[in-house]
Amino acid sequence: MTDHRRASIEMDKAEFKKIGYQLIDSIADFIDSIPEKKVTTGEPPKALQAILGNDTLPENGTPAETIFAKASELLFNHSLLNGHPKFFGYITSSAAPVGALADLLAAAVNPNVGANILSPMATEIEKQTVKWLAEFIGVPSSYGGILVSGGNMANFTAFLAARTVKAPKSIKENGISMDAQKLLVYCAKSTHTWIEKAAVLFGIGTKAIRWIETGADNRMNIEVLAQTISDDKKAGYKPIIVVGNAGDVSTGVVDDMKAIAAVCKKYDLWFHIDGAYGIPAAVIPGLKDLFAGIEEADSIALDPHKWLYSPLEAGCTLVKDPNHLIETYSSHPVYYNFSSDEPSTQNYYEYGLQNSRGFRALKVWIALQQVGRSGYEKMIGDDIALSKLLFDLANDHPELEAVTQNLSITTLRYIPSKDIEEMYLNKLNEALVNKLQQDGEVFLSNAVVNDKYCLRCCIVNFRTSKKDIEEVIEILVREGRKMHNELQEQTVLK
Ligand SMILES: *Cc1c(COP(=O)(O)O)cnc(C)c1O
Repeated sequence: MTDHRRASIEMDKAEFKKIGYQLIDSIADFIDSIPEKKVTTGEPPKALQAILGNDTLPENGTPAETIFAKASELLFNHSLLNGHPKFFGYITSSAAPVGALADLLAAAVNPNVGANILSPMATEIEKQTVKWLAEFIGVPSSYGGILVSGGNMANFTAFLAARTVKAPKSIKENGISMDAQKLLVYCAKSTHTWIEKAAVLFGIGTKAIRWIETGADNRMNIEVLAQTISDDKKAGYKPIIVVGNAGDVSTGVVDDMKAIAAVCKKYDLWFHIDGAYGIPAAVIPGLKDLFAGIEEADSIALDPHKWLYSPLEAGCTLVKDPNHLIETYSSHPVYYNFSSDEPSTQNYYEYGLQNSRGFRALKVWIALQQVGRSGYEKMIGDDIALSKLLFDLANDHPELEAVTQNLSITTLRYIPSKDIEEMYLNKLNEALVNKLQQDGEVFLSNAVVNDKYCLRCCIVNFRTSKKDIEEVIEILVREGRKMHNELQEQTVLK
């Protein structure tokens, strides 16, 4: 070894600038070109594997410039572009460009936001981000919490805190023993699949989920909820959590939060809200009534990488009494010298499941300042208005059936003519979704609403405009007709 080490992974300042400027230039061109591109190329994995090549692990290095040129080409030209104005699939937003720059900045400084001492300013910024997110949705800024990777993790983080608080106190030490009272959780049958993973992960088992039926309005039936809890208690079970949906994943329905809160109060249960998709819409003053009661939640999951347009990944858990997170997650091994006499010191490893943590708060913090509360109110409001426009245009079209519209999710079907049997319509619309997802003109997903197989458009996309929605109607009708003809021909040929 020489006195002055120059590791091969190091970059000198001039090289970093050169490659960095080139990369920023090509990213700027890419973002600018997104609307002209297809939403997806529809290339199958085999084709992509051929393009990528199957070289073995490189023995020696390649100049970074070459690798970035190759990586950019691969990603720019062979990706699904959720930043495309006609991307409405699942719940994935277009990503704010400031998010890409923020991630670059976060990675450059690389604070480990697990411990205050390792991330002094980043910890304060994350605390402020959590506080702002609480203010954003309109709950008191005394809620505390933590940034996590997404909605699933945000729900898990809250779920375990709830279990710690509401299950017998011995559970942290003894685990869930066979002879203990069986713990139960309650949620609407439209709840996202995270709840099943949570039931498995935290040991209560999927049979401990009571799926509460929904009414004609697709909201959780509160009478059935209260009755089920009461029956379960009489039968010797131990109910612990009720989950309310603030924007369910299929149709965007918001449960009656006030009513759920009242049931939780009556039976001494933890009230958790899954707001991964929809709760940012609480920023809109006109939707105050829809979200009334959210401030009574013990915990809330939300997802900046959905309706706050953060690049992946960013989720957030908010907890009314953040001490419950510490009760659940804190431990003090001898190898951590992280305690401090300063009472406002916060070590994020004690607030959740992760230990070493990246600085995902930065991109959220920056975007919140770039546009402010009012900027988000406008963008979220526009997304909702466009979703309503889609519903209305479908409603007016003789070959489309508008099925549901809540928040920014519209479900609809292609219907070639009246008096067509439901089974065929389901088959036709399923084939249509699959075809559209391959073609790349528009990207939407599916939902099953009252046994109807629907096309589902979720607009969490600040690039979508009125013209896109009008064009989508044309595309759906044109492709619907084609698919109907194809299916008819197949039947004739048989
Ligand atoms: C998306 C979503 C989740 C899961 O969030 P991820 O960020 O994908 O982990 C959970 N609940 C609801 C209601 C969602 O919309």
